[in-house]
Amino acid sequence: MTENTDVIVVGGGYAGVMAANRLTRRGGVKVTLINPRPAFVERIRLHQLVTGSDDALVDYQKVLAGGVGLVVDTVTRIDAAGRRVTLASGGSLDYDYLIYAVGSGSAVPTVPGAAEHAYLIATLEEAQRLQPVLDGVAGSN
Ligand SMILES: Cc1cc2nc3c(=O)[nH]c(=O)nc-3n(C[C@H](O)[C@H](O)[C@H](O)COP(=O)(O)OP(=O)(O)OC[C@H]3O[C@@H](n4cnc5c(N)ncnc54)[C@H](O)[C@@H]3O)c2cc1C
Repeated sequence: MTENTDVIVVGGGYAGVMAANRLTRRGGVKVTLINPRPAFVERIRLHQLVTGSDDALVDYQKVLAGGVGLVVDTVTRIDAAGRRVTLASGGSLDYDYLIYAVGSGSAVPTVPGAAEHAYLIATLEEAQRLQPVLDGVAGSN
């Protein structure tokens, strides 16, 4: 890579953080990580969030290498030809290379009754919705 190569990493999960951190070892690379929230979500601990034994959140300062710039926003459009991402806040950022690491979500429930009665825990918000439900069950025993 040449001097002043701009790399944007979309998604600050395990893959995005690892990619961003490793890229800082290269000279001449400016790394910008874009993620919707200012904290790293430890998805592998979301079941612990539900049971109250962990909040599944880690400050990015603890996991991001010093050279990584963090932009708290959501990418709403990638213009691959123009090498530009549009942000939910209305701005845009140009890049030379883009790493797409937006993770996954819950599958659409297809088992009869699941949509009405099942709780998902693939995302922080889903786990946070389940937590008070389980708390209520524990309190009623
Ligand atoms: C309860 C639970 C337990 C698990 N346990 C294990 C385990 O024990 N072992 C294991 O190997 N795996 C486990 N997994 C799976 C593991 O969490 C995932 O494989 C892993 O999180 C994938 O990492 P990732 O970086 O690809 O995506 P993620 O960790 O999902 O990160 C993606 C990031 O991209 C962000 N993002 C999404 N869209 C945008 C956008 N448009 N703009 C900007 N940012 C965006 C998201 O907010 C998120 O921060 C578990 C998952 C769950 C839910």
